[in-house]
Amino acid sequence: MLIMKFGGTSVENAAAMHNVASIVKQHQHRKPFVVISAIAQATNLLTSIGTNAALGNMSVVQENIATFISKHVSIIEEGISSPQTQRRLKETVANVQQDLERLSQGIFFLRELSPRSLDALCVFGEYLSSLCVHEIFLEQEIPGVWLDAKKFMLTDNNFTSASPRLDEVQKRLQNILHNVEKENPIFVTQGFIGATEEGIPTTMGRESSDFTAAVLGSVLNADEIQIWTDVDGFFTADPRVIPTAKLIPHLSYAEALELADRGAKVLHPKTMLPIAEKNLPLLIRNSKNPTSAGTSVSSSRNEFATAVGVTLKNNIAIVSLIPFEQKNFSLLTEILAGILAEHKRTPLFHSAGERAHLFGFEGGKISDSFIQAFREIGSVTLVEKKSLLTIVGNNIFQSPSVVMRFMKSLADTQLHYMTMSAHRLSLAAVVNEEDALRSMVAIHKEFFEQ
Ligand code: ASP
Ligand code: MG
Repeated sequence: MLIMKFGGTSVENAAAMHNVASIVKQHQHRKPFVVISAIAQATNLLTSIGTNAALGNMSVVQENIATFISKHVSIIEEGISSPQTQRRLKETVANVQQDLERLSQGIFFLRELSPRSLDALCVFGEYLSSLCVHEIFLEQEIPGVWLDAKKFMLTDNNFTSASPRLDEVQKRLQNILHNVEKENPIFVTQGFIGATEEGIPTTMGRESSDFTAAVLGSVLNADEIQIWTDVDGFFTADPRVIPTAKLIPHLSYAEALELADRGAKVLHPKTMLPIAEKNLPLLIRNSKNPTSAGTSVSSSRNEFATAVGVTLKNNIAIVSLIPFEQKNFSLLTEILAGILAEHKRTPLFHSAGERAHLFGFEGGKISDSFIQAFREIGSVTLVEKKSLLTIVGNNIFQSPSVVMRFMKSLADTQLHYMTMSAHRLSLAAVVNEEDALRSMVAIHKEFFEQ
């Protein structure tokens, strides 16, 4: 079995969905199991419906619902030829419109958007896109069978970032697949969404359709997972920022995870765990450029001792702490872990010693109450709005020259911190945001343009 996941831009309109059908057809002999994202921007619209309803901006809510609905109506009108199918799908879309209106009214009256309500809204994106793709498959004579992910993707009730229970997902899915009567079915389902034991809809985090593909690959023991997106694969740097960046033909699981974690937006970092655990081959492909071979990811390692890519993350904050009095190391660490948990903060990097701790965080402002909690223990320094530049590679520490060349490219840049990942897969520097681009260009030149 082959898992094929198509992202939002790969299903953005009727033409894109037809393109998906033709790609799936080419792989039909490998029994594809197809995972579909919401059409491009749909999840943003649904999220905006929720936040604006809670703020009382009902005119924005109405606009968002209208845009969401009309995008799907256009797909149905342009992508489906049978009038009966069109009518049936339009009825479903009208029902969704009613549901969105009711949900947003509820949120509006309460002026509160809980994670559970947000999930209740967000599941409609993948629901409609997967239904449209399924009907297009049938019209293209692909024996599609639509599966409701809520029926098998059992998750906990950690709404907006729920985790699936793999053993139960496997059991439910096998049971469902077992009872399908169609011959050589091509299953089509939704990424991103699941449901609790009680059947309440959940989502597994933004961009987590990749993760759905990984989970399905794992529980179905797929022989390959293909993530079809709108870029050719992983690049030596973000090609939108560095036009000379080159496609990376192969990565190890660890390298792909590290690149994703450090800012390469090709893949959701969570994706890699279930895939690596089962040693399943992963392929990134571009639905808009299907002749490109893409990037393959597997357990086989690149043996050359150099970097495979450089990434950039903005909006980095560093918090360092020197305790007022010398505390036992494990006690201090425990107190700090408590503060992090209470403020729901996970550091991107952390350096710890008996006399000082330093944390690097990404995204958003560090709250005053968080800093205050640190201030009760020691003296605190906070630097915000910095950038993290990372080079990644299995063997970058095998020869000192990689570190030297990295430092050389940063020679005239103010460094705020440097860190090497604990699993020795990456080396990173924290620099001023205004220096980040120039430094990235220098690093890329040094490693990938010689
Ligand atoms: N539709 C969801 C999102 O935009 C999930 C995904 O596309 O992976 O976050
Ligand atoms: Mg996506």
